[in-house]
Amino acid sequence: MRKYIFAVLVIAFLVTISLAGCKPENLTPEFISQVDKYKISLEISSDLKKVNIFENVEVFNDSQDQWDVLVFNVYANAYREHATEKAYFTALARYGGLDLDSIKIDDYDYLTTSAVDSLDTILEIKLKEPLAPNNKVLISMQGTLLIPSCNLRLGLSSGEYLNLGNFYPVLSVYENSNWRRDRYTRIGDPFYADIADYEVSVKCNEDLSVAISGDRKTESIDGGEKIITSYGQNLRDFAIVASYQLDKLTGLVGTTEINYYHSSAKDAENCLISAISALETFNSIIGNYPYKVLNLVETDFYYGGMEYSNLVYINRHSKNKKDVIVHETAHQWFACLVGSDSINSGWLDEGLVTYLTDYYYLKTEGEDVYIKRRQSEKSILDTYLKMQIEADSSFDQSIERSLYKFKNNHDYCMIMYNKAGILFETLSHYVGYKKFESVLKTYYDKNCFKIANLESIYKAFQSNHKNIKALTESYIADTMLTFVG
Ligand SMILES: [Zn+2]
Repeated sequence: MRKYIFAVLVIAFLVTISLAGCKPENLTPEFISQVDKYKISLEISSDLKKVNIFENVEVFNDSQDQWDVLVFNVYANAYREHATEKAYFTALARYGGLDLDSIKIDDYDYLTTSAVDSLDTILEIKLKEPLAPNNKVLISMQGTLLIPSCNLRLGLSSGEYLNLGNFYPVLSVYENSNWRRDRYTRIGDPFYADIADYEVSVKCNEDLSVAISGDRKTESIDGGEKIITSYGQNLRDFAIVASYQLDKLTGLVGTTEINYYHSSAKDAENCLISAISALETFNSIIGNYPYKVLNLVETDFYYGGMEYSNLVYINRHSKNKKDVIVHETAHQWFACLVGSDSINSGWLDEGLVTYLTDYYYLKTEGEDVYIKRRQSEKSILDTYLKMQIEADSSFDQSIERSLYKFKNNHDYCMIMYNKAGILFETLSHYVGYKKFESVLKTYYDKNCFKIANLESIYKAFQSNHKNIKALTESYIADTMLTFVG
């Protein structure tokens, strides 16, 4: 996510070189066959207020344990009026949620009353027979997605912009012999998922513009309706933005098509140029983007932006779209391709992406611009920390903590973006820029399509003959104050 305050607070091509990366063709067939497979059909109503959803998930047990239950996250239920944990901040004119009509386990009809109209985002499905390791089960769900009226990840804003982010039931992560059951929170990005394959078809009014995740697409029109089918392999998630207002500009970086969707934005061409520049720069310093498409979509959005595989939201009212574009493009690598636990270690991707946004300016506009931007980030943090410490001397500055332990989104942004960004800046200066880029390439190459953690970062530095453990640990320790020069 792009912090909402950043646009008003900050001051202000490289030739693509093919380096280490994780292209799909490098993957072994075994790896691809082991991911979960989602096949989702959507029917979007013409007024964009309702979506019929038919979802089949082929769940593969890649653990060593036998599974008696499956746990899905149904984030749409955080938009219900009486949701246990609400996604919205103020009362809505229309609330959302996913009303499930049926759930099947293979051919067995499974539906519990608790699964219908749930106020909770956790959906637990008790399997009829335990699922042994290396076996599959097919879960089929059918229901109606009610679209809330709001400008959040899921919602219809101004009656015109339909955001479909985190909208479908998604399998939770199974780790340490347990299913993760993370409650929803309005702070940060409370999402955590494994890579999966997707085939998603959308039936809608033929005049609707649809920006969609996935990197292969087919489209047909019949009787005033169109059907779009999009396929994506090894995606962290799947998102859609639909509107009758959207136009599209297209560019190309290597074999990746970049689409910039907008509603008659005067700066759209410059935004596309920024997106191309960002993709080229990150291809060069991190490793090649492995997908064939990247969609950037201007929409009504409460925050500056939001990242999904192949698709990012850009707040169409943002005062500094370029920063949002660069930030969200960097997230394609760190959040989407290299996943991490956004609930408990949000700083791993937000801190790195915050720093990489400034690093992009170092590479494209030079050191003076970079230094100014870094100083600005530090001084904003410094002011914030001084105020907090004055009010409460035991103010928690630790960066390694869960989303639930932050006071609000501003507190989260200051610590997870700005403070963690300083850690990555410190590390890059400690090892030097050239070595830092080598570390980024290693970190990406070793963790692409997987879930990384702090240990993965240590290993990437160690592979480049640098040990940053002591420096990092002292920085992320609970009580250490951040001194800004
Ligand atoms: Zn972000």
